[in-house]
This record gives sequence, structure tokens and C-alpha cells, in this order.
Amino acid sequence: MDNEALVRFARDLGASDAAAVTAASIIVDETLARHCTPAACPFYGQSAGCPPHVAGPDAFRSWLKGFQSALVIKIQVPTSLLCAGRCEDHFRRLHCIAAAVERQAAAMGHASAMAFAGGSCKQLFCEKEPDCAVIAHSAPCRHPDCARPSMSGFGIDVARLTAAAGWGFTPVSPDQSHALPSSAPICALVLVE
Ligand code: SF4
Repeated sequence: MDNEALVRFARDLGASDAAAVTAASIIVDETLARHCTPAACPFYGQSAGCPPHVAGPDAFRSWLKGFQSALVIKIQVPTSLLCAGRCEDHFRRLHCIAAAVERQAAAMGHASAMAFAGGSCKQLFCEKEPDCAVIAHSAPCRHPDCARPSMSGFGIDVARLTAAAGWGFTPVSPDQSHALPSSAPICALVLVE
């Protein structure tokens, strides 16, 4: 019942869709986390929400044992924007929705709910700041109401997550944009105990 209410809550906040999945259906793959490198991402190491400052795949697997279910949240984004790397507004909204669902789950009695999103919070929320307040100053996050860790650093398999949610998933890369649908999902995850 709570998951159904959380699905409605996410949709009401503007998610294109949300779905409850079992915690057991969340697949963690170290090889995905290894894609987070300084060479692959200009935001590697720049926030508390990205490697090497997150606990990583082993810790996530351990946390997962304490959860029964999860909410997968998606926002459909025009493929042209994804390919051009111009969808920061959508990713910001995704983080804010995931964080709001986490708070709502806690208010419903799921005090350990944990949200994860996509994209670097340094890029999305602190791009104009010289640093991340958490890792540079051991201070609170500047955007606790929205910024959440990136799923990538934990090796969360988003393609299989969307399959578990009952949605299709088409990987997007700029060199194949001609063959892609007009929109593609960006996703977030909220663990609910
Ligand atoms: S202070 Fe900024 S960069 Fe650091 S965790 Fe918060 S949003 Fe991310």
C-alpha cells in the first residue's frame, strides 16, 4: 500500500512514471562502477555523491539486505537533449523528486529510506561553487533537499532496473541518435525498508 502511495506521490511531483520493484531485483555490477573514472567523467571526485567518495558496490549490496522494496522513478527526456548533453534541468528535477519521495517514505514510517539519482550533484547543484562543501570543508551539503548520490558509483544496473520496473530501455549515445526514439528515460531509485 505504501509503495502504491509513493508511486502516486512521484507521479504527482512530475515524474513521467514510477514503479515499485523488489529489492532482490536490483542488480549491482562492479564493472559499471568502474566506468566512473577521471578520464570518463569531468566530475569524478568532485562531490560527496560520486566516487571515490561514495561507499561503492559492496556497501550497496550490504545495505540492500535491509530493504524489501524500492521505487524506480523516471523522467522521459528528449533524446536530442540527452545526446547533446543539455538536460541538466531534467536531472535536477529527477534528484528533487527522488529526495522528496525519500522524505515522504520516511514520513510514512520508512525511516531508513535512501534515494539515489543520476548525474553528478556537483554539476547539477554546485557548478558555480569552487568545491563540494562536504568533501572540501566537512560541512553539510548545500542542497540537502534535492542532491542525492549518483547510482553509477554504486554499480547499480539501470538497464535491468528499468526492465524490472516494466519499462523498455534503449541506451543512448550521440553517434546513433538517428536510430533512437524521440525520448529516453533518466532514472532514480529510492530504497524502502
Ligand atoms: S555540497 Fe554540492 S557538490 Fe557537495 S554533495 Fe552537496 S550538492 Fe553535491
